[in-house]
Amino acid sequence: MVEVVRIPVLSDNYVWLLHEPQSGETTVIDPAIAEPVLAEAEKRGWRITQIWNTHWHPDHIGGDEGIKRATNCLITGPAAEADRIPLLDRQVGEGDIVRLGAVEARVLEVPAHTSGHIAYHLPDQNLVFVGDTLFAMGCGRLFEGTPDQMYANMKRLEALPGDTKVYCAHEYTLSNARFAITVEPENQALQHRLADVTRAREVGEATVPTTIGLEQQTNPFMRASSVQELAERRHAKDNFAG
Ligand SMILES: [Zn+2]
Repeated sequence: MVEVVRIPVLSDNYVWLLHEPQSGETTVIDPAIAEPVLAEAEKRGWRITQIWNTHWHPDHIGGDEGIKRATNCLITGPAAEADRIPLLDRQVGEGDIVRLGAVEARVLEVPAHTSGHIAYHLPDQNLVFVGDTLFAMGCGRLFEGTPDQMYANMKRLEALPGDTKVYCAHEYTLSNARFAITVEPENQALQHRLADVTRAREVGEATVPTTIGLEQQTNPFMRASSVQELAERRHAKDNFAG
């Protein structure tokens, strides 16, 4: 079994450390900055051997350089954004396998937030790192893609096993829940979840990871019944103050 450690950085980013104990390999998913990640690995006696980037945004690759300098790790990221991720060593795309010791991650192309955004799915470990594509009760903004693409992404992720743990790159959960309840005020699972995350955030607890099953029940973007509906909800969320 792998170990996953959450490192909260900047205002609401989560950087994830993924450790495979047999080989001793450790990868960092989307390091916004280097220092707290190096410190956390050091504290645990883990040697960082890889970085996996999901997309080119600075709050996902900002730590690449510092971690590379300190560890000489191998940096993997989306081939389609190679020109925007300066230190990329290995370019990957749909269906490629990325290994961390004995563990395999399959690359899923999930463009829309950015044009080359990828996710890393570890089927044997029941977990997926989704960057800024799927959030707890939310989805990423459509900076470089279309509602069609995001709708397809939601359908793909929805099809993963319900107990798959979903590691998103931001703590956006409470704002997303407040929006979601305006879309589906009668959804009881959503009512419960809004209460849960409100309580959790009041005491500063993280609400990520989530699971595919929970998102199937409560995520208004995954639950959108058409591209049009997803587009309307995304537009409404972009203008939602909550
Ligand atoms: Zn982003």
